[in-house]
Amino acid sequence: MKYCILCKNNSENFIIKENLVKKLNHIYDEVCPDVIITIGGDGTILGAIQDYFLKNENIIVFGIHAGHLGFFTNYQKEEINDLINDLNNGTFNVEEIDLLSYQINSSNEFIEGVCLNEITIVNPPRTLRLDVYIDDEFFEKYRGTGLCISTQSGSTAYNKSLHGSVIDTRLKVLQLTEIAAINSNAYRTLSSPFVLSEDRIIKLKTKEEQEIYVTLDNKSYKFNDFIEVKCFYDNKKLRMAYSKTHSYIERLKKSFL
Ligand code: NAP
Repeated sequence: MKYCILCKNNSENFIIKENLVKKLNHIYDEVCPDVIITIGGDGTILGAIQDYFLKNENIIVFGIHAGHLGFFTNYQKEEINDLINDLNNGTFNVEEIDLLSYQINSSNEFIEGVCLNEITIVNPPRTLRLDVYIDDEFFEKYRGTGLCISTQSGSTAYNKSLHGSVIDTRLKVLQLTEIAAINSNAYRTLSSPFVLSEDRIIKLKTKEEQEIYVTLDNKSYKFNDFIEVKCFYDNKKLRMAYSKTHSYIERLKKSFL
């Protein structure tokens, strides 16, 4: 098995990394790993998905909690010896987490990929103007700062700050939330978080040239032309390793209560 280690830049994390490299009986390979060990928080895991998932959809992520929140990290720093034993003996469990697929079409680019938390489309300094379609059916004309489409796993991230619902990860849904939508006699939007079935396809289309940022978890692209963003589930799943039983309810309590 080939593995690599991605860590947040600090000296303590580099010491953990050196210790792991000494004790793991596998080949270190940053180009084509089968396993990624992250040392940091959720941000480090999100970066690992953007960098590696499309190269190897079967990749397994081991997250060591050395960050701020660590909602997704399954191993605490005190459990590093467990992680070493789990990886050396193959005694870990794998949880499959749904990833949201996206396709972005602009006049001169086509970009596709997956994200764990959400896709956002924003125009922070101006009023974003776009049309929202659900399954190719026109839904609403949106005017405001932006829109966020999150997964059930991402419902505790940006979506939560937008007063979207926290979704039990046993459900598979898309959630559309607004970022400072304009609601007046001139413009009207749903104004509520909208939870949609997993088989829906959400399309966001701009009709005029405007400055737009599309953010996929912690990666973003800037566009200045017409774009269409399509969000849908395509049965892509991230494999996250864990050794001890873990509970989603416990994780929510630990992170937020
Ligand atoms: P970041 O600093 O990497 O993340 C912001 C915070 O969100 C961190 O504390 C991170 O945990 C936590 N987080 C990430 N995914 C989570 C999840 N599924 N449930 C609960 N907390 C989660 O920020 P970034 O690099 O700009 O973007 C990464 C993520 O930040 C995005 O996917 C988005 O969800 C979130 N974000 C939130 C806001 C907001 O709430 N206003 C704005 C922009 C982005 P760690 O400390 O463990 O890394």
